[in-house]
Formats: sequence, C-alpha cells, structure tokens
Amino acid sequence: MGVDIGIDLGTANIVIYSSDGGIVLNEPSIVAIDSEKKVLAIGEEAKKMIGKTPFAITIVRPLRNGVISTFTVTELMLRYFLGRAIEKKLVNQKPRMVLCVPIDITSVERYAIESIAKQVGAREVTILDEPIVAALGAGLDINKPQGEMVLDIGGGTADVAVISCGEVVTGKSLKVAGDKLTKSIVFNMKKERNLIIGTRTGELIKIKIGNAYKGSPIKYLEIRGQSRMSGLPEKIIIDSDEVRKYLEKDIIEIFKVCRDVLEVTPPELVADIYDNGMLLTGGGGLLDGLDIYLSDLLGIKVNRADEALFCVAKGIGVYMDTINK
Ligand code: ADP
Ligand code: MG
Repeated sequence: MGVDIGIDLGTANIVIYSSDGGIVLNEPSIVAIDSEKKVLAIGEEAKKMIGKTPFAITIVRPLRNGVISTFTVTELMLRYFLGRAIEKKLVNQKPRMVLCVPIDITSVERYAIESIAKQVGAREVTILDEPIVAALGAGLDINKPQGEMVLDIGGGTADVAVISCGEVVTGKSLKVAGDKLTKSIVFNMKKERNLIIGTRTGELIKIKIGNAYKGSPIKYLEIRGQSRMSGLPEKIIIDSDEVRKYLEKDIIEIFKVCRDVLEVTPPELVADIYDNGMLLTGGGGLLDGLDIYLSDLLGIKVNRADEALFCVAKGIGVYMDTINK
C-alpha cells in the first residue's frame, strides 16, 4: 500500500503529514517573487524577506483569507514543499492526498484546491472540513451524537464550529485572526507611540508579550523601530497591558463570533458544550490568556489544544489511520 499525504494548507503555515513519517514539513505559506514574476524564495526564506526587500520584490501569501487567491503560486509552492518533504519516488507513485478547508469556502474554491492537489501529483483527493479535523487532532470523539465546539484561530481567519455525529452543525468564519492582531499592534504603535515598526516586529510583540486577559502577569519588551517624528531609529520599552489594549477590539470580535454561533446552536448541543467546554486550536489560539478571557465571557470551559499549531495536521493523521484500518 502506498503512502498517503495530508496537507494543512493554512493562510500562515503549511504543515505536511505523511502516513509513514508523521509531520514531515512545517513552513510559512509565503512566496517571494520579483518584478518578472520569478520566484526568489519560498517558506521560511521568503518570510525572512518581509519588510526587508527592495521594492521590485513582492511577497505573496497565496492563501490570504483562508482561500486560494493565487492559483499558480499556490501550485508552485505546494509542488516545492512536497518535493522537499516527500521522496521523489513516492510523489511519482501518485499518493492519495487529504486536505483541509475552512467551512465556509465556496464550491469553486473547493474545486480549485482539488485541482491543485491533482496537478501536483495526487491520485485521489479527499477534502475535509477543518474544524472536524482539528477536533480529531485534539483527540475528541466527534462521531458521537454529542455537541463539541471548536474555535480555530489561524493567520487569516478565525473559524468556530459546533460538531455532532461527525458533521458541522453550526459554524461561522471571521476574517479577524493572527494577521489582524499583528496589524493592530503595528497600527497602534504608530498612532499611540509614534513608532513605525514592520509586521515581523509586530508579530514578535504579539507572541512574546501579547495577551488577552487583564489578570495576566505583566511582561516587558524592548523594541526597535523608526520614529514617526524624526525618521530616525528609536528604541522603546512596551508592556503587555499596552499591547492588550491594542488587541482589545479584535479579541471582542472573536468573542462575538463564538457567542453568535452558540446562539443558533440547538439547545441540547449547547448543554453538551456547557459540560465539555470549547476546544481552542490554531497558532492564534496561543495568544496568552485568550482561553481565560473567552471562558469568562462565554461562561464555558475553554481547553487549549496541546499542540495548537499542529492540531489539523495531526487530525489528518488520525483520519488516515481510520480509513486505512
Ligand atoms: P493558518 O492555519 O492560517 O496557517 P496557524 O494556525 O499556523 O495559521 O497560525 C498562525 C498564526 O498564529 C500567525 O498569525 C501567528 O502570528 C500566530 N501565532 C503563532 N504563535 C503564537 C503565539 N504564541 N501567540 C500568539 N499568536 C501566535
Ligand atoms: Mg489552520
């Protein structure tokens, strides 16, 4: 029996799972292209170029808001990563591929993803709903007639879904997630502190000292940027309370989308969720204190998945194991 490949094609990161090697690749889903449309770098190498490239170079994130925005670049990127992660002879054997998509994509987008997988060598393509796979990856038993709620916060979108009997019952997607949080930090540093920083620094601030919960212990970080006044380099110290204020609006949006989904969920399932709590996955879900914040406001337990960034890829693995049994 040949090897099966699972792909979590995220807006920020791509994770590849192989049935014989587990997680074999984890890279940013970013491509750097020059003015003649020639590819200069892909993945981590391309991410390093953000904010540091000459004007002629464009950084493309082919999966901006959870869906494919640049078909050819996505195909090229996927081909490159598969070539690196999987032995050539296995790609030539035309593996079966399992991919995940957000719940609210259109059938055209679903078809686009399927076509790309076939272009890069898939014999057979299975497309699964992301929240279901994330729940599988976190070890939940999703096939029972019991409500499970999942919130996945990626780079481009935050997706919330209630699952029962292996299907999504209610769900919603919001275009406020990790990227928007970073953007809000960059925007507010300029507005409130007159300091111009790039998205890489913004992301670093978010990961190191960002938090969502007022009671979180305070942390400090020294950052460098460019003074909006003088245009010269400047160094300042910021603390986590300040960063939380910058993130507040976005975090409220994330709370609201969870509340909206609970409001339209059948009462029997809401009762289950009250007992089981909500699963929090995705890189954005790692924001410090977000679990406590959401738990306070929603009045339910919020359980952050152990390996939040790999939940979907691990879930694809669980799915493959079940179909191969
Ligand atoms: P996607 O599935 O869309 O590719 P991921 O689940 O890989 O997204 O999450 C990527 C997002 O998670 C990025 O916006 C990144 O900045 C954010 N992120 C990663 N680690 C942390 C952290 N420790 N705290 C807050 N955000 C984080
Ligand atoms: Mg994801």
